[in-house]
Amino acid sequence: MAKQLQAIRGMNDILPEYSPAWQYLESRLRNLMATYSYREIRMPVVEPSPLFSRGIGAGTDIVEKEMYTFEDRNGESLSLRPEGTAGCVRAGIQHGLLYNQTQRLWTMGQMFRYERPQKGRYRQFHQFSVETFGMAGPDIDAELILLTARLWKELGINEHVRLELNTLGTLEARKHYREALVEYLSGFEQELDEDSRNRLSINPLRILDSKDKRTQEIVADAPVLHDYLDAESAEHFETLKSILDAAGVRYVVNPRLVRGLDYYSRTVFEWITDSLGAQGTVCGGGRYDALVELLGGKPTPAVGFAMGLERLVLMLETLNLIPESVQKTVDVAVVTRGDGVSAKALPMIEQIRTGLPGVRIQVNCGGGFKGQMKRAFNSGADYAFIIGEDELANQTVSVKPLLTDGEQENMDISAVIEFLKKRIQE
Ligand code: ATP
Ligand code: MG
Repeated sequence: MAKQLQAIRGMNDILPEYSPAWQYLESRLRNLMATYSYREIRMPVVEPSPLFSRGIGAGTDIVEKEMYTFEDRNGESLSLRPEGTAGCVRAGIQHGLLYNQTQRLWTMGQMFRYERPQKGRYRQFHQFSVETFGMAGPDIDAELILLTARLWKELGINEHVRLELNTLGTLEARKHYREALVEYLSGFEQELDEDSRNRLSINPLRILDSKDKRTQEIVADAPVLHDYLDAESAEHFETLKSILDAAGVRYVVNPRLVRGLDYYSRTVFEWITDSLGAQGTVCGGGRYDALVELLGGKPTPAVGFAMGLERLVLMLETLNLIPESVQKTVDVAVVTRGDGVSAKALPMIEQIRTGLPGVRIQVNCGGGFKGQMKRAFNSGADYAFIIGEDELANQTVSVKPLLTDGEQENMDISAVIEFLKKRIQE
């Protein structure tokens, strides 16, 4: 027998049992974005590799260790997208969406990173992300945080996430800080963990969020970025905080929050949960004013965020917050009695469907009457339509309530439609 084929490690099937949770989350996200007047953009999952090495930064974990990169048949280096921002900026520049305009965009889809698979961390995962362009002030930063806060409330997880906030200042201010940091950390070079030692020359800010104990102790006394902030960035940050205060959004300023990507400036933020163990960041974002120019466009202020949908679905499941109604897929189960009745009943069912748009009617194709009735009960349907030779001949349906003790009633097609219209409304 041939060896059984398996999905790639860390790349999951989302089975029908779980898709209602995904659809629920996705539709909440779509509705939310519509109410803030954001528009959807969709990009390819494969892009030329240099987009990511330039856009994300050569010294980052993502580009150094996590990208799926390969040559296509022409020898061009391509990569599966590890995140959505670089591709969105590429598309924005290519199609002239950014120059002298404002854009509020969202997208949703698969991302790929070669990481060690574990709970909440996969090699193919899904992000929902928002990118805005052309708005330099702190009000748009605040809008992004407010809309995520609203989402947590709608999903019922607002008590289970907390907001951490920081500002990285301008790239210029960060350069000065970087020098001071490197000077301080160089004094401890031999004591740093290996990753951090390597980062010292490439990406020293990342050392600030090292998970290594000794490195953390060293970092505790390191110079802090806030002392190097330029006045404008400091004011931007103060205004952002005052908007959040006025709107009642709680946050903690974490001066060590730097985020993994090179392109951020000024505001960075993360929403973190304790309900998922180690993989606690459900949403991260920030301002990336330099990226558009870096990728070949005109200077354009930009701010965005990305959330990990697997982690959110896990949270909703763990906290039992997926409404039962979304699990339900059948309102009416059609049960037939007698040889060949099932096939002949279909045109009649089609007439009923036309009169009942939105009502979910499942036809039991095949099996004896008893087996079909059992499936009808197990489907969670409210009613069964029972159709035998008599019903066919008279063009009627026997309607049997499955969730209550009500009587079975025989009705013609228009009566069935009227009856269900009153009882099952989408
Ligand atoms: P982490 O610190 O958990 O590795 P990150 O900083 O690499 O996260 P981002 O690049 O900011 O993550 O991506 C935004 C969000 O996407 C994360 O907050 C997380 O919810 C989700 N995410 C990132 N990597 C993965 C992954 N491998 N599997 C599942 N979700 C992920
Ligand atoms: Mg990561």
